Amino acid sequence: MSIIGVFLLWFGYTLFFRNTHIRLGRRRRRKSRRVASGVPGAPRTCPVCSAILARGERVKSTAYPSMGGVDRLMYISGCAYCLEGDRVRSCPVCGAILKAGDILVARMYDKPGRSHVHVIGCSQCKKVGKK
Ligand SMILES: [Zn+2]
Ligand SMILES: [Zn+2]
Repeated sequence: MSIIGVFLLWFGYTLFFRNTHIRLGRRRRRKSRRVASGVPGAPRTCPVCSAILARGERVKSTAYPSMGGVDRLMYISGCAYCLEGDRVRSCPVCGAILKAGDILVARMYDKPGRSHVHVIGCSQCKKVGKK
């Protein structure tokens, strides 16, 4: 499997939830200093830490070539806030806290003018992305 490009996205995406329980960090010890938390799945919201991203702030991700279908595999690392360690990175599907190097697994659907990303799990619950 070859990587055709590491690129950044900030288009809207849709989360695929296996269960409805979502950890929103309600009892966070310290309020976020720089960014507010958005609803997971909202446009321009980091899928890893739910930070609301301003224009120009992007999510680091890696997309793989399509296997002949309409979607392609994508690994999502996170945004500037959670990659720097300012925010907790967690999987929206299984709720696991992601360690350094862990990624979210998603499927990206290319559509004219607007692409959609469905998060289907992380490297812990999908058992991928580990080296
Ligand atoms: Zn983030
Ligand atoms: Zn997971």
